[in-house]
Amino acid sequence: VPMISMTGVAKWYGAFQALKDVNITVNKGEKIVLCGPSGSGKSTLIRCINHLESYQEGQIKVGGMVLGHEAKSIDAVRREVGMVFQQFNLFPHLTVMENCMLAPMRALKVSRSEAESRARQLLARVQIAEQADKYPAQLSGGQQQRVAIARALCMRPKVMLFDEPTSALDPEMVKEVLDTMIALADEGMTMICVTHEMGFARQVADRVIFMASGAIVEEAPPAEFFSNP
Ligand code: ADP
Ligand code: ADP
Repeated sequence: VPMISMTGVAKWYGAFQALKDVNITVNKGEKIVLCGPSGSGKSTLIRCINHLESYQEGQIKVGGMVLGHEAKSIDAVRREVGMVFQQFNLFPHLTVMENCMLAPMRALKVSRSEAESRARQLLARVQIAEQADKYPAQLSGGQQQRVAIARALCMRPKVMLFDEPTSALDPEMVKEVLDTMIALADEGMTMICVTHEMGFARQVADRVIFMASGAIVEEAPPAEFFSNP
């Protein structure tokens, strides 16, 4: 079952073409690692999937929905697709718990008690239960990133997108975030991860996709991908 399909996707920033004829199918439960040099379009590609960026050509389907560029369609995709950024992007004036409750209450109109119960459960799952009433600035980077993962999961997304989730972390905190992502992968989440962590790619990815200059230049299972000379 294709969870995400991109066909012939092209995107320009003004005169600069950032994505060139991108074709990707991600089936339910598949894990994709997207890699390639800085500026090759990885971030742009995953931002197109949840409509943080618009694109000019081709089609992206998420969970069978053809996504137009109108607001209704963007809301629909943001409900299906969770995203985790390099810079955590937590609201600094809200507690960890409030950060997790906000989107389900606003976007899904779930009750306060339901949002709180989801948040408690997911914060426990990423081992942050004890920090629930703290503010983001009181947490380490690794803890903040695990909160960001829990916050995305509170929407019960079908797909999770990760944009260099460990690149802004001190080295000793990388493992705790990767372990959280590995646990999520083991539970069967469909994932696209932009990362330079090749150990993670070997362990988790069904396929590694390599981009250069806005195009996909290689796509292979990790064993094959890493055996190339
Ligand atoms: P990557 O994630 O692989 O580092 P990006 O998707 O961030 O690459 O960027 C791809 C290219 O598009 C880069 O050359 C970058 O400078 C350019 N780019 C990204 N965002 C914008 C923007 N908002 N306006 C103009 N150019 C952009
Ligand atoms: P990341 O590495 O997380 O993709 P970047 O530093 O590439 O972050 O980009 C940060 C922001 O600046 C993004 O919103 C991106 O779209 C924008 N951006 C990147 N390159 C350019 C560019 N050449 N011109 C304008 N905006 C850009």
